Amino acid sequence: MNTQNIVRFIGAINSLNTRNYTLLKSAIEKRDSEKFVSRLLNSDVVEEDRCCPYCESKSIHKWGVRNDLQRYKCKICKRTFNTLTGTPLSNLHKKGRWLSYAECMINGLSVRKAAAECGVHRNTSFRWRHRFLKNVNDIKPEKLYGIAEVNEQIFAWSEKGSNKLNRKPRKRGYKSIKHIPYDKRVFTLFCRDRGKNTYDSLFFRFSANNITADLSKLLTKDTLFCSQNKAVYLKYTKDNGLRHGSLSIAKQEKVKRDIVHIENVLKYQRNLIIWMKRFRGVATKYLHNYLSWYRELDEFEFNISPEIVLIRAKRSERYNTNHFR
Ligand SMILES: [Zn+2]
Repeated sequence: MNTQNIVRFIGAINSLNTRNYTLLKSAIEKRDSEKFVSRLLNSDVVEEDRCCPYCESKSIHKWGVRNDLQRYKCKICKRTFNTLTGTPLSNLHKKGRWLSYAECMINGLSVRKAAAECGVHRNTSFRWRHRFLKNVNDIKPEKLYGIAEVNEQIFAWSEKGSNKLNRKPRKRGYKSIKHIPYDKRVFTLFCRDRGKNTYDSLFFRFSANNITADLSKLLTKDTLFCSQNKAVYLKYTKDNGLRHGSLSIAKQEKVKRDIVHIENVLKYQRNLIIWMKRFRGVATKYLHNYLSWYRELDEFEFNISPEIVLIRAKRSERYNTNHFR
């Protein structure tokens, strides 16, 4: 549009009726927002560090702009890409609504409520949720320091949303954890140090060997492992030569020597369970996503911005080709 037309266009704005004015306003907001999101997602990598997601070569050059995103072409493998190629956010549409969607996630809205809030279909809402959380699963502390409080939580195996259910639907779930058959239990292990770093993992069989395999790099010999005196933890700490602050279940011990307790991890678990109630049960195959989602909120003390949610959903580790091929 040339300058003369733009001046005429701006002059015509005053004569628009309310309906047309609203349409124009929302079109401008959408465009602005898509541009903003594109700029945001393009800005987390320094241009000199940008490399081809296919062959990791830094020999690339700019190759036009499409959907507000800068495209690049690799001089080595000749393939084109943009900043989202190979990330969980690739091939998702309606970028302009991603920030509002990230906000809905921060507020813990259900799939349907978030869909209504952002004006997208519930299937889109579901897809976005799990794409946004894909990378968050890997953002866990690599080490816990000092005192690690450990406890487990049992969830019932759930096939929520599955089209092929191999059993009769349970109308009201299980009365309590004790009523869940052993083969229908999913165990979540929570380890939280006093610096509020939290590590969680899922087990279908809760044994000292499985815990050893999972926690081998997380805890060092200097860590004080605090837990209840369950056989699994006793064996795990003995096998790995860890110092164990063990609390007797029989004596209902809460604190020992002032420092041995698991109050912090129990509080984390309690708050997680309260937070998860809004989803009215989650499918076991997505449980790790919900654990990661809550872990991220807790890491930022529930004060994370939608921009950070998006940047973390699209991490630069995408350059590890195994990650997305
Ligand atoms: Zn390449």
